[in-house]
Amino acid sequence: MAATAIFKERQDQIHRKGEAPFAISCNKESLAGAVSQRACVFCGSRVVLYPIADALHLVHGPIGCAVYTWDIRGALSSGPELHRLSFSTDLQERDVIFGGEKKLYAALTELIGRHHPKAAFVYSTCIVGIIGDDLVTVCKRVAAEQGIPVLPVQSEGFKGNKRAGYAAACNAMRQLVGTGDTSGIPRHSINILGDFNLAGELWLIRQYYERMGITVVANITGDGRVADIARAHGASLNVVQCSGATMDLARMMEKDFSIPSLRVSYFGIEDMAESLYAVARFFDDDPTIMARAQELVREELTTLMPELERYRRKLAGKKAAIYVGGAFKAFSLVKAFRLIGMRVVMVGSQTGTPEDYEELQAITDPGTIIVDDSNPLELSAFLKEKEVDLFVGGVKERPIAYKLGVAFCDHNHERKEMLAGFAGMRNFAREVYASVMSPVWRWVPRRER
Ligand code: SF4
Repeated sequence: MAATAIFKERQDQIHRKGEAPFAISCNKESLAGAVSQRACVFCGSRVVLYPIADALHLVHGPIGCAVYTWDIRGALSSGPELHRLSFSTDLQERDVIFGGEKKLYAALTELIGRHHPKAAFVYSTCIVGIIGDDLVTVCKRVAAEQGIPVLPVQSEGFKGNKRAGYAAACNAMRQLVGTGDTSGIPRHSINILGDFNLAGELWLIRQYYERMGITVVANITGDGRVADIARAHGASLNVVQCSGATMDLARMMEKDFSIPSLRVSYFGIEDMAESLYAVARFFDDDPTIMARAQELVREELTTLMPELERYRRKLAGKKAAIYVGGAFKAFSLVKAFRLIGMRVVMVGSQTGTPEDYEELQAITDPGTIIVDDSNPLELSAFLKEKEVDLFVGGVKERPIAYKLGVAFCDHNHERKEMLAGFAGMRNFAREVYASVMSPVWRWVPRRER
C-alpha cells in the first residue's frame, strides 16, 4: 500500500489482525484535513427523524443543508409522504446579519397551515448555531398557536459528528414519547427502533413479530407516525437495531419509563433468527411465542438454504471489503459473507466504539484490516492492496469502488432492495452474486492481464 495514503496521526485507528496485539483508537473527533466519510451533526439527526412520515421537517438554515439531505433515506411509508418534501428557511446574508427567527416563525406558520402535519421538527444548522437564533422559543410559540408538537432539533452541523446528530434526534423524539394514550396495549408488545424502512424491510420485520404473537406499538422511525411514537412508552420492550442511531432514545426510555431494551440485527440469517429468539426469551411467560419463532425460522430456512448454497459454490474464495456507518451492521455482514463463501479482508465503520472493534477483530480472519473513521484515500489503498472483488458501503463509498473497477453493493440510504430479514438475505446473496460475477469487471484497466 502507498505509505502516503495514511496520515501518521491516523495510524492508531487502523489495525491489521494478527500483526500486533489488538489495539485501536476510535470514538473521537475526525482528524482535520483527513476528509472523513462521516456526515455532519445535522445530517445525523436528519437521517434518524426523516422517516416519520406525517411530520413536517423544516431545515432552518441555508438552502444547501436542505438540498444535501432531501429525501436522503428514501424511506417508504404505508400512508402519508410529507417526509419526502424538504423544507428550508433558506437563510440569506440579511438573515445572518439581522437574525432568522422571524423567517422561521413565518415559515412554520405557513407550512403547518398548508400541510396539517401531526408534528413539526425544526433542524438547527451550522449558521443558526453561529448567529444564535432561539429555536426553542420560536418552536414553543408556534406549538401553542397551532396546537401540535413543534420540536427543535439542536443539530448545529459543526458541534460534533454524526453521532451527536443521533443524540439530537433522540432528544427531540423524547419530547414526544409519553404524550399519547397507552390504553389497550397488551403486555407482549414492543417498539422497533433503528430500522428506517428504506426498501420495505420494516414491514417484513413487523410481520415476523406479529406471526410470533407480539404487538408492535411504534416503528422508530421507519414508516413512523407521530401518534405511535407518543404512545411508545406503553410497550414492554424496545428492540433496537444497529449501534448508534436510536440507542440514546432507548436509554432515555429505560430511565424514564423503565422499559428495557435489546440490541439486535436483522441482517444475515444468524442474527435475524437470534433477534426473534431474543425477543421470545424476553416474553418467556408464554412459551408459544418461542415455539412460533422457531417454526417461522424453520419455514424460512427450508426455502432459503438451498438457494444460498448455489451462490456459495460460485462465490467461494471471493474477497469483500465493508465500510459502514455503525459497526453493528458490520458484524452481521461479516457473518453473511461467510455464509455465502466470501472472505472479508477489510472492515471499518464511521462511528464504532472500542467494544465494537474488539468484536470485529474477534470474528474476522487473520490479516483483515480493521479501520475507524476512514477516508477515500485510505479506502482506495486498502481495496487495491487486498484486491477485493466487492465493496459494501453507502453513497459516499460507491464512487470509490467504481473508479477502481470494483463491484459495489449499497447497504445504506440509496438501496431500493430489501436486505434485512430472511428474504433480505436472499436478495443480498443475489445482488452480490450478480455484481461480483458480472463480466464487466474484466474490462476495467486494473484487471487487465
Ligand atoms: S449543517 Fe453545516 S455542515 Fe451540515 S450541511 Fe449544513 S452547512 Fe454543511
